[in-house]
Amino acid sequence: PQKEELVADKPKRSNSPPLPRQNAKVTPPSPPKIIIDQQRNAQYVRIGLLGEGGFARVYEVKDFRGARQACKVVTKSSLKTKKAKTKLYAEIKIHKSLSHPNIVLFKDCFEDEDNVYMTLELCPNRSLMDMLRRRRRFTDPEVRFLMVQLIGACRYMHTNQVIHRDLKLGNLFLDAGMNVKVGDFGLAALIENPGERKKTICGTPNYIAPEVLFDTANGHSFEVDTWSIGVILYTLVIGRPPFQTKEVKAIYKRIRDNEYEFPNDSSISIHVQELIQQILTPDPSKRPTLHQIVDHQFFTEGTVPSRLPSTAHDSVPDFS
Ligand code: ADP
Repeated sequence: PQKEELVADKPKRSNSPPLPRQNAKVTPPSPPKIIIDQQRNAQYVRIGLLGEGGFARVYEVKDFRGARQACKVVTKSSLKTKKAKTKLYAEIKIHKSLSHPNIVLFKDCFEDEDNVYMTLELCPNRSLMDMLRRRRRFTDPEVRFLMVQLIGACRYMHTNQVIHRDLKLGNLFLDAGMNVKVGDFGLAALIENPGERKKTICGTPNYIAPEVLFDTANGHSFEVDTWSIGVILYTLVIGRPPFQTKEVKAIYKRIRDNEYEFPNDSSISIHVQELIQQILTPDPSKRPTLHQIVDHQFFTEGTVPSRLPSTAHDSVPDFS
């Protein structure tokens, strides 16, 4: 199983890309059993912990009607610096502005004395990362189904000038109907002026586009998400990320040298190999557009199931 560890740093000055931080983790006290949104006069009963990220803990909660939701909790003690506050406000502002069937719906945001809370659409089938661990890899029809939904969400984000910058299996959640929901906008950026380039080095080692690491003078833009989509496609089909090695520095070197291989396995379609090669092009301006990706033969000449059964979580579904 691969690691999906986040890196984020200031615009680069030195020549070496950042390594994931090894934060000493202090476990903050649990949020109250009954979480109260005073302004809206609403309350939520906290049920269980769904997961923990670098900055937040996410709980399953029930609203007054008994409807289940996810609630992302950030302790105020972790928001002491101006930078941390700015980052959280940016995440909220961007996530709130998005509404698409394949993006985790942002519902409300409120605070009490100790925490900031964000209520989100619940994704009870966990992430594609968990699913890949159980399945080892996916069949082509499943890959097409998942990728069409991911690319749809990404086209919507880009149309709304949002770059996600951390697309990876662990941030692609599954709702009750096994639909993809893109989540975690913690590294997302809004492009406010046409042609604007971003300079902050951020992402997750296996999925970072080469221009983020090595063309910091020029900066990066929407094409970094396209690159991650190529890495995701490879990972779903092959079962492990293309540039994966033990050491993060060695991953960066492989990304720089565009060094990845396809296993010698006749079950891997030539079409998908060709598409992956097109997407993982070092020059961002030469990568296919999201539209061109779904127009590729891998998609147009194969079946795209209309839905995935939830049994696909554990075993190969039968689409016949
Ligand atoms: P961070 O921004 O701190 O990385 P994430 O948004 O990635 O936090 O959430 C951390 C974990 O919480 C996820 O890996 C996942 O297990 C769980 N999680 C997050 N959002 C949801 C959701 N909407 N439904 C179900 N589980 C979720």
